Amino acid sequence: MKSNIYFSDDTTTIYHGDCFDVLNNEIKESTVDVIFADPPYFLSSGGISNSGGKMVKVDKGDWDVPTTFEEKHEFNRKWIKLCKRLLKDNGTIWISGTLHNIYSIGVALEQEGFKILNNITWQKTNPPPNLGCRNFTHSTETILWARKDDKKARHYFNYELMKELNDGKQMKDVWTGSLTPQKEKEFGKHPTQKPLYVIERLLRASTQPGDVVLDPFMGSGTTGVACKKLDLNFIGIEKESDYADFAKTRIINMLIQEELF
Ligand code: SAM
Repeated sequence: MKSNIYFSDDTTTIYHGDCFDVLNNEIKESTVDVIFADPPYFLSSGGISNSGGKMVKVDKGDWDVPTTFEEKHEFNRKWIKLCKRLLKDNGTIWISGTLHNIYSIGVALEQEGFKILNNITWQKTNPPPNLGCRNFTHSTETILWARKDDKKARHYFNYELMKELNDGKQMKDVWTGSLTPQKEKEFGKHPTQKPLYVIERLLRASTQPGDVVLDPFMGSGTTGVACKKLDLNFIGIEKESDYADFAKTRIINMLIQEELF
């Protein structure tokens, strides 16, 4: 698949294409301050789930179909390695996942020369019920935060702001809140759209105005929307054209709301 720039303005670039190609060929080395990645979970195995009260097959798309453990791990090592080349020495990377991929990602991060700073648990207040009734209801996702494993690396953490947002107490690594609300889905649907408050919090914790943020698996563009709210430059990559389009619409709408467009 040939990658191309789908949308760009002074502070935003959206690529429609395969992130392996774009990360390798389109973005300059050591130019990115923070990466947020929400890669495939590899969980669409045809099992049963719940959507809007109905029993449905788990099918988030071809990009999410499980492979062998070795293939999944090789995939994770490969994109993490490409991201590391683009990240500045003091930069950090956030990666979200579920039990299906997060253990591979944790190992891949260490294998590719990262040091994990935090293991954030995003606890969902309104998870879908477990229809199989053979194990506990899945109600959390994990977000790993890491920096390059180099003693000289000085990552940025806005400790004071996080404390302020938590009523003057140190912010903990369990973040509780609802699934993505309907009002964030007004321009389209994506099966794994993250809520804005989660991405906003992690960007507020780790970026300064004007920083460059990269999302190699952009989906509906939640990271881009958060970047526009926070005066950050954004580079997003998405291989499905419908999602690239959805992301562009959401980002432009946020620029209009902020009167930046
Ligand atoms: N965080 C996103 C959001 O809030 O909408 C959801 C990301 S979703 C888990 C992963 C996305 O990565 C999907 O939209 C999928 O189409 C895309 N994707 C999968 N493999 C890709 C690849 N090799 N290059 C670029 N995008 C890819």
